[in-house]
Amino acid sequence: MAKVAVLTTGGTVAMRHDPARGGAVPALSTADLTAVLPPGAPELAVEEVCNLPSSHFTLGDLWHIRERAAAWAADPEVSGIVITHGTDTMEETVYLLDLTVPGETPLVLTGAMRTASEVGADGPANLWAAVRVAASPRSRGLGAMVVLNDEIHAARFVTKTDTLSTATFQSPGWGPLGRVEGDQVHIPWRLPRELIPCSRPEERVVLIKLAVGMGAELLEDALARGARGVVLEALGASRVPPWWLPVIERAIAAGVAVVIASRCPSGRVWDAYGYVGSHRTLREMGCLFSPGLNGPKARIRLMVVLGAAQDTAEVAALWNKNPDPGEHECP
Ligand code: ASP
Repeated sequence: MAKVAVLTTGGTVAMRHDPARGGAVPALSTADLTAVLPPGAPELAVEEVCNLPSSHFTLGDLWHIRERAAAWAADPEVSGIVITHGTDTMEETVYLLDLTVPGETPLVLTGAMRTASEVGADGPANLWAAVRVAASPRSRGLGAMVVLNDEIHAARFVTKTDTLSTATFQSPGWGPLGRVEGDQVHIPWRLPRELIPCSRPEERVVLIKLAVGMGAELLEDALARGARGVVLEALGASRVPPWWLPVIERAIAAGVAVVIASRCPSGRVWDAYGYVGSHRTLREMGCLFSPGLNGPKARIRLMVVLGAAQDTAEVAALWNKNPDPGEHECP
């Protein structure tokens, strides 16, 4: 019989309306959350890691969640781990866990879009689905996943797409890994997982989104404040205005890793143009490119790579290691 560890960290799933505050606040304990599971659920081990909105998490909090998840993943009696978490930053935590928690034990993040005091609260159904996915032998070796709205999404692709919808989590361009249907867990696809051994991620990594005509002051400011890595959510498939180039050049010369992601909600960065500020210019300058990760996830991967590498050559080598062994260049 499968044993599942349930770690709770807060989020809307653990919130109730508080008339005095005029809004939802953290209220449910780990015991309150798991009390809704039906008879016949797998044996549970529970731990309250914290009870916070995910917008309050520091990078230290994220690493603490990672440490607790890694400790439970090392327990041979535990076949799967569920982590309840606020949806606002769930995509970052799930990807950090996917990159850094070793072993075959599946890590399933879930939460809710409606509080426990709302009609149609989705927390109990999401938690039950997450427990079933964590207990499924089919989930072993898949790394970290998000389960909400009966869909199973891979850490690498999942993103919060809607501020209110209970179907907010999507994997744009890829689709879910699988689904929960009644008491069945269907996972038709298997995505190879990338593990980057890292004792502590580098926290001094910023994410900057570009917009038309925008100056490079935010990047200059990040460099002045000692950033060790910068992710730029560039225009289209990876273009920046020409006036950004001298600042990017200065960053790279100072040993700062500059990663180019896209501000588009789906699709990869791509080399198609010969004009200044295009992908080609950025590559020749020594920028690194996001392997299909959105800006927040590229930032997590860069923090982990910078935490794992000793020097800039190793940063580039680790960054450019293909995260997807299923992907090959066309001849
Ligand atoms: N405010 C919540 C959070 O902690 C949102 C949610 O959980 O849906 O991220």
